[in-house]
Amino acid sequence: MKTQTYFRTPKTASQAAFIARIVARAEMLFTESGYRYKRMARTPWFACFRPDNTDTRASRRDYLVDVSSHTCDCEAFEKAGDCKHRIAVALMLDAEAELCERYEEESQPWRELGFESRPLFV
Ligand SMILES: [Zn+2]
Repeated sequence: MKTQTYFRTPKTASQAAFIARIVARAEMLFTESGYRYKRMARTPWFACFRPDNTDTRASRRDYLVDVSSHTCDCEAFEKAGDCKHRIAVALMLDAEAELCERYEEESQPWRELGFESRPLFV
């Protein structure tokens, strides 16, 4: 896992527990918590929508995550230096990159044999 967090270094056990809770929430933000994201074309930005926001327009987002500067515009990010939205987007991008890497690895022997990629029926 390549994802890192940008929280300020915890000085107490309760601050460390807070970080652990946020990371745990981030891990299930898009899979179980009902949050959604939308890539904003030609930008490093992801629009994040809370579960109660059913709008699909990026302009109606609740939060904006910028993956180039590793920031989010939410209040929690402002206070703590990181947040579940930014971490969730980073985790999703890591998982996506890992899938692409695995696909490339699995396709390599087939490409060497002259196929474009691994045949789907194998
Ligand atoms: Zn945020």
